[in-house]
Amino acid sequence: MDQQVQESGVVGQAARRPPGAGAVPRDVSVIVKCTRKCNFACDYCVDRVAGDSKLGIEDLAGIVSSVLRRPEAGRTTFVWHGGEPLTLGRRYFEKVLAVQALAAAEGQHVRNILQTNGSLLDAEWAGFLRDNEIGVGVSEDGPPAVHDRNRPLGNGHGTSAAVARGIRSLQDDGAGFGVLCVATPQLMAGDRRELLDFFVAQGVRRVAFLPLRPARAAFADLQERDDHYRLRDEYADFMCELFDIWIARDDPSFDVRELSNILATLVGGESTTCIGSGPCVGRHFGLDATGCVSHCDKFFGDERFVFGSFRETGFDEMLDSPRLDAARRLESDLRQACAACPWAAQCQGGCLFDAALFAASGLQERPRHCHLRRIYDHIAACLQQAVPFASSSQPKEA
Ligand code: SF4
Ligand code: SF4
Repeated sequence: MDQQVQESGVVGQAARRPPGAGAVPRDVSVIVKCTRKCNFACDYCVDRVAGDSKLGIEDLAGIVSSVLRRPEAGRTTFVWHGGEPLTLGRRYFEKVLAVQALAAAEGQHVRNILQTNGSLLDAEWAGFLRDNEIGVGVSEDGPPAVHDRNRPLGNGHGTSAAVARGIRSLQDDGAGFGVLCVATPQLMAGDRRELLDFFVAQGVRRVAFLPLRPARAAFADLQERDDHYRLRDEYADFMCELFDIWIARDDPSFDVRELSNILATLVGGESTTCIGSGPCVGRHFGLDATGCVSHCDKFFGDERFVFGSFRETGFDEMLDSPRLDAARRLESDLRQACAACPWAAQCQGGCLFDAALFAASGLQERPRHCHLRRIYDHIAACLQQAVPFASSSQPKEA
């Protein structure tokens, strides 16, 4: 599938307090790369691999049970991601649900979210997802001209018609879903108003716009670094312009997730995703068919944030390991780069992956290079104009 996981938001609301060492906090999420196989060939994908790389149900049963048996795991979200999870078939997810039902203790809240490219959705899938209260994120990169270029089949054919059909299946069956849209240069070159109109006309109620990110928390060279921050600047402008259009529409039934999250934190509320919810190590985990357990899915392959293999080490043991403590300390250091930001209290250091990238960039003064800072500045200024005394929308002195 691609970069569209939990910044992608699929990770839900998290408490703001940092977790205690060795304990699974009450909100925990596990992003499961259940297969790397995919029927698409998206041009920015870093996740797809050839052949079958599915996470077997026995491995899965072990992981699900060991996460849920932690008495602290009061609310747990499993995010089913790939590759394309629907290539595994419904039977696979029926087994997943059965394992969860057996493993969950009374009162334990278990939530499932499935991230899909949408092309295999049909009435049966929609009914299954609705009946089992599985939240759905559909990846769709805007109008066909952009989507088909970014997210083709292996043979180069466009996929927008198949995705639109999949979305209609969800709508016909009343299954809840949101759309995740990657803000590629092609998308950002288009008209913002037409972009929002496209989603509204499709009946989409919630859309998230994700910035492109490198595959690793380090840049290959200075050119890659400069291109990255240039693209982030472009993304900040894009989101600020979207904000103006979105707010002027005054349509509470249509949500742009990144914008409403920032707005919420500016008026004292909470972000609905991990970004903007503060420390994330020990709260969000990523795992894949190789057995790797890492801090969310962004850090597969980054030894600093890999806690082991679930085939060799029990999940419990990983949670109590010095590696996890070291990763928490590193997170705390990395987030220090935000200390001088006027929005630090509201944004809480944004995404740890971005913080790690910044630390590896050789640049100084993270707030000066931060796309979120620019979006915060813009939205706060708009808020101040509308409600001059809204106290939490004022930056602290840097
Ligand atoms: S690094 Fe943290 S904030 Fe960023 S996507 Fe992963 S869990 Fe979310
Ligand atoms: S520098 Fe950026 S990520 Fe850090 S607190 Fe400020 S807005 Fe958030």
